[in-house]
Amino acid sequence: MVTAAPGEERSPALALVNTRRLNAGEEVDDLAEPRDATEWLRRHELPAATIGADDLSRLTDLRAAVRELLAAVTEDRAPDARALETVNAAARADAAAPQLTWPAGPRREWHSTRPGSADEAMAALARDTIDVVTGDLGGLVRPCEAHGCVRFFFREHARRRWCSTTCGDRVRAARHQRLVVEQRETSQGRS
Ligand SMILES: [Zn+2]
Repeated sequence: MVTAAPGEERSPALALVNTRRLNAGEEVDDLAEPRDATEWLRRHELPAATIGADDLSRLTDLRAAVRELLAAVTEDRAPDARALETVNAAARADAAAPQLTWPAGPRREWHSTRPGSADEAMAALARDTIDVVTGDLGGLVRPCEAHGCVRFFFREHARRRWCSTTCGDRVRAARHQRLVVEQRETSQGRS
């Protein structure tokens, strides 16, 4: 299991985008099979009865659309119109209503009209996407700067540039390697 990128615990939409990643140049998809997706949704408190093959392709389409929206936010540009429509369609698929509960203080919960359905889970992911890109978190979205990494994270600390210590270590090791080679070349040039 790969470590979650900073912010994934605050945003299932960010976590969704990061289910497609690279590991040593190889593409890894945490949602490759319907049962992987069912399990992933359950872990992110988005219980969907069972994800079928059709639901899975809708979920991976939604993932691609959310990625495009996060990229647009970080690049300060308008997103692809299809990505916008995909997220809006997912948000509309469940006519959920906000409900006020008061466990230990006021809390907003969304009550689905289709509880337990794949639409409920996808609408929740779409709503979170809309909250992220329109809210304060939008300004924190960053792509990992490590070469060969495609994950996004929330930059909660000003100096953070990588999605994980693994990526940070990899960048530092590559930089060190480059320095060693340069020093070797300089000293060879002198002799
Ligand atoms: Zn990374």
